[in-house]
Amino acid sequence: MNENVVIIGAGPAGLCLSLALAARGIEVDIVERQEAEALTAPAYDGREIALTNATMRVLRELGVWERLPADGIAPIRQARVMDGANPGFEVDAGAFGHDRIGVLVANHHIRSAAWQAVCGQPRIRVHCGVAVESVSTDVTQARILFADRRLLNAALLIAADSRFSQTRRSMGIPVHMHDFGKTMVLARMRHAVANDGTAWEWFGQGHTRALLPLGEHLSSTVLTVPGHVAQALMALSDAEFAKAIAAHYEGRLGEMELASTRHAYPLVATWARRFVAPRFALAGDAAVGMHPVTAHGFNLGVASVELLARAAGEGLQRYRDPGHPQWLARYQRQHRAGSAVMFAGTQAVAGLFTDERAFAQPLRKLAIGAVRALPMLRRALVAGLLDESPRPPSLVHQLGRTFEILRPRIPRSQASA
Ligand SMILES: Cc1cc2nc3c(=O)[nH]c(=O)nc-3n(C[C@H](O)[C@H](O)[C@H](O)COP(=O)(O)OP(=O)(O)OC[C@H]3O[C@@H](n4cnc5c(N)ncnc54)[C@H](O)[C@@H]3O)c2cc1C
Repeated sequence: MNENVVIIGAGPAGLCLSLALAARGIEVDIVERQEAEALTAPAYDGREIALTNATMRVLRELGVWERLPADGIAPIRQARVMDGANPGFEVDAGAFGHDRIGVLVANHHIRSAAWQAVCGQPRIRVHCGVAVESVSTDVTQARILFADRRLLNAALLIAADSRFSQTRRSMGIPVHMHDFGKTMVLARMRHAVANDGTAWEWFGQGHTRALLPLGEHLSSTVLTVPGHVAQALMALSDAEFAKAIAAHYEGRLGEMELASTRHAYPLVATWARRFVAPRFALAGDAAVGMHPVTAHGFNLGVASVELLARAAGEGLQRYRDPGHPQWLARYQRQHRAGSAVMFAGTQAVAGLFTDERAFAQPLRKLAIGAVRALPMLRRALVAGLLDESPRPPSLVHQLGRTFEILRPRIPRSQASA
């Protein structure tokens, strides 16, 4: 009987998962189509990943955090949500007794740190520059055939090969896919006016703007626009691009200058109809591919890492089988329960705030007004980012925790009276 695991995809989720499995005593093979050089020194890809406290805890446990460059971690002190001229609402870490509500780390730094951690691990073997010819599973084992005819057998096969996972398709798992028909254009910009460590989400007619603070006068600008506008922006010279971005931000940050390469991502969200099959599981974006507006894709990917490693570890410990069906079923239950609300909520936010039909405007006003008027909602937003604990084991526990966060606090003096 095999006791090993094969992961297809050495992205941030696949690499972190291999570390989490190895920490539980499991032998892991990771299969990646990119060459080793691309993984050793990944190029800047425009993504600045907002990490929750729970994700930071897991990255620390896996030995990834300590490998991030200290000057590559930027704190977010406040977040502001605006809708056109409507000033919206703000959440401030200080109001909750914290100095930051999260941090930003560039995706290529996460990939590089995870890769370095993997390289020191005797239980992990990486197969780079490899094309997978076919995958199949039955109740006893998984088989992975490479294009060069090498064959790997495993107790469990995991697909972590992106939201467009070829492995998921080969395994016949359907996916709910939503193409937003919009593209995100990202770049680092230097700007004259300081950003005060504040992240923005600023909805508007024909475009959505976000600002991610990386330094007082350095931010990542994230512009969501129809594909043809994105194409035109990408074709501009650096100076014209900087002017165009400054205009999209209505001059609020003063003059701007391009400080990185530019990147464009067409927006497609995916939700796999099942997360497991016999001897098979999905992790990272291959399970849940989020719209980036709520900045939760990788955070959910890390939740899948923690839950799936726990399930495989329990299977190994109790039955000498990391692909034991009972524990895979538990992983599916827990990860679906933990991601469903965030996925549906993100879809709703992305839909409502980019809807240009007349009825959407008052609804947006109502939604923003409700958050501004109800401190408990803002508290819930911040608590979700600051909470370090592992994901609750079921939807009922999750609702319990949400209720605990939303419950009005009785001042101490009254409580002890
Ligand atoms: C613009 C943008 C901003 C984002 N911002 C945030 C944020 O603020 N916070 C957050 O939490 N998340 C954010 N995300 C989401 C985050 O980037 C993803 O969730 C995360 O990168 C997914 O990691 P992954 O390892 O699952 O997949 P990927 O990063 O897609 O990696 C998949 C890997 O599999 C490999 N692969 C693919 N197919 C095969 C194959 N057939 N065989 C072998 N290997 C294969 C690929 O080469 C790649 O290395 C953002 C995403 C975007 C697009």
